[in-house]
Amino acid sequence: MRIITDERCAEYSCDGHPEGPVRIIDTVARLKSQTELPLTFDAPSQVTDAQILRAHAPELLARLQIPQDFDADTPFYHNIGTFARASAAAALDALEEARAGKHVFSLMRPPGHHATREHAMGFCYLNNIAIAALEAVATGAKRVAVFDFDVHHGNGTESILVDQPGVAFFSVHQHPAYPGTGEANTGKNCFNHVVAPLATRETYRATLARALADLNNFSPDVVAVSAGFDAYARDPLAEGSLLAEDFQWLGQSLRSLNVPMFSLLEGGYSSDLPELIFAYLKGVAGK
Ligand SMILES: [Zn+2]
Repeated sequence: MRIITDERCAEYSCDGHPEGPVRIIDTVARLKSQTELPLTFDAPSQVTDAQILRAHAPELLARLQIPQDFDADTPFYHNIGTFARASAAAALDALEEARAGKHVFSLMRPPGHHATREHAMGFCYLNNIAIAALEAVATGAKRVAVFDFDVHHGNGTESILVDQPGVAFFSVHQHPAYPGTGEANTGKNCFNHVVAPLATRETYRATLARALADLNNFSPDVVAVSAGFDAYARDPLAEGSLLAEDFQWLGQSLRSLNVPMFSLLEGGYSSDLPELIFAYLKGVAGK
């Protein structure tokens, strides 16, 4: 399995912000120290403006150069445009790898699923998964499914993909929770499955299973996964109930769809994040 990651992920930070370099640094260390899975590590290639602009307004690309915070959660960082583009490029590399029949995980920051067509928000600057989904459609995919298991609703992904031909969005998330959207289905192709705060693990798993069954009924030819690990029971930012073995089960379940698939890191703020990602990768690898 290929891991797409980049040392530049550690080159920007803001004191006290939960979305920090340690998420990637510790996960890379964990994955490099294990021997159960054969993994290769590669840096991302490039993304063009044209690829980004399928998902975003030109104003957002311009805004990434202006040194002002985007909102209270989403600081401006020196060179954030470069870092965001690297994360989007990794998503495109992951798509390509999936199409070549390989398993792949993009271990990058910043995450993307809250970024809308026009705005960076919620720790996200460019919507990596939407950029990759629209690239897939533009290059021949007929039915692209985006599966988002981050505990927060992928409002940005939904707003970009709603009623786009050839794409469907399936999200499982806590509600109420940030960003407050995702209570009901939207458009013809965005399917939201909500879990109440502090719902039991059994309820959370059953909801994930229903969303996966919906996704399977869509008969996708590519599955793009927004892999957030903040539905974990000990995550500091939400009230989920999942354990490491549930993320392994998610990996197994997605693998067993038998469709080219790729996964991108979204949230996950517990110090156990490396173990959760490793569990997911084991599942994806068929263990
Ligand atoms: Zn999240």
